Amino acid sequence: MTDAPHAAHPDRRLLIIGPPGAGKGTQAARIAEALDLPAISTGDIFRANVGEGTELGRLAQSYMDKGEYVPDSVTNDMVAARLSEADAADGFLLDGYPRTLDQVAALDGMLTERGRELDAVILLDVDLEEVVARLVQRGAEQGRSDDTEETIRRRLDVYAEQTAPLVDVYSGRGLVRRVDGMASIDEVNAAILAALSR
Ligand code: AMP
Repeated sequence: MTDAPHAAHPDRRLLIIGPPGAGKGTQAARIAEALDLPAISTGDIFRANVGEGTELGRLAQSYMDKGEYVPDSVTNDMVAARLSEADAADGFLLDGYPRTLDQVAALDGMLTERGRELDAVILLDVDLEEVVARLVQRGAEQGRSDDTEETIRRRLDVYAEQTAPLVDVYSGRGLVRRVDGMASIDEVNAAILAALSR
């Protein structure tokens, strides 16, 4: 495949949604590179703050360790600040945000303020039992304190309760591009790029 990302992929303001362990982070980094967009991961920003020992990091960690979501007010302010940075002006790929209906409304507000709207929502479809196995393995490899089996189960429940409903909201807006997330990393990547250029 040759790269003509801008011509081939006109979508510029993108979200990637899927349960924990669906491969969002891996795919977000690749898609963002292919489309020359910044990948903005709220989980990564929280982890960076935990690593730096900031006040935000201390607050976020108490939630992350339990598999719970960081409060919307905190998360929304953090994303608003990140979207105000220059590299996000012409587009972005949000990974792991929004995750609640309140965050959807907040993001709508941020975009409306700028006279922008979302172009597409990539939904990674996965088998949940397979995902637990992947996450247990990632926890062992990367030492992530939120990748223990108990926390993983809690994160999947929280996803089902709070984030799965977002799929209906975005489907209603005609934005969702559903991609099979169980194939290999390369195959999933190709399927996402194909879905975005449809
Ligand atoms: P992730 O790396 O996207 O799986 O995120 C790891 C953890 O960070 C989540 O389990 C939450 O505790 C927190 N987090 C990340 N994104 C959000 C968000 N949009 N809203 C609330 N909490 C979040």
